Amino acid sequence: MTEYVIVPPAQAAVAVLGSSDRFPVRRIFCVGRNYAAHAREMGKDPEREPPFFFTKPADAVVDSGVAVPYPPETENLHYEIELVVALGQGGRNIPQDEVYDHLWGATVGIDLTRRDLQLAARDKGRPWDWGKAFDHSAPMGPLRPFAELPSLETGRIWLAVNGAVKQEGDLSELIWSVKEHVSILSRSIALAPGDLVMTGTPAGVGPVRPGDVITGGVAGIAEIETPIGEPLM
Ligand code: MN
Repeated sequence: MTEYVIVPPAQAAVAVLGSSDRFPVRRIFCVGRNYAAHAREMGKDPEREPPFFFTKPADAVVDSGVAVPYPPETENLHYEIELVVALGQGGRNIPQDEVYDHLWGATVGIDLTRRDLQLAARDKGRPWDWGKAFDHSAPMGPLRPFAELPSLETGRIWLAVNGAVKQEGDLSELIWSVKEHVSILSRSIALAPGDLVMTGTPAGVGPVRPGDVITGGVAGIAEIETPIGEPLM
């Protein structure tokens, strides 16, 4: 038995629908600008670019129902509702028609973004990490096992703040489908069991403040509720 010199970090994990079991998270990959209307609202041409990726730390996950403290160093915390897929099997160079064989399940998540920091970094050609990969930045609904999933290629995706719908789209609007972008991702990185992929957000992103409650979902897959709390002291 290896003895560690400090207590090993707790395993990050997300809930599983209808079960007390949890899915252990290894890494979180995120697809940038994967809906045309959102690419346009961010001031970019949606048609020209191949998919690109960024990451969040595994322990950024937060269960649905758990409040997220308003993060430090931002005046512009944004929500982004996203379909999330979870890998049960890893692989390199996964062909598109084998991607679904690697999935354990799917859920809905929120790619919380410090938009002011992200845009400042983008404009200066710096990494996006401080805008995207902060503590509590990845609230996740409960995972639905693959065998119980409806299509990942069509279905309503939506988000509301305090009950008012802010984002509404359909999975059929994904510029790069799950099969396509997971296959492409696996050419750059050896994917592994426990990896999550956040698949991009539809248009309508915007700010939240302490006291707001975000709700959202993907039809037939999962729903999420994330209250925004006061900043940590
Ligand atoms: Mn996103």
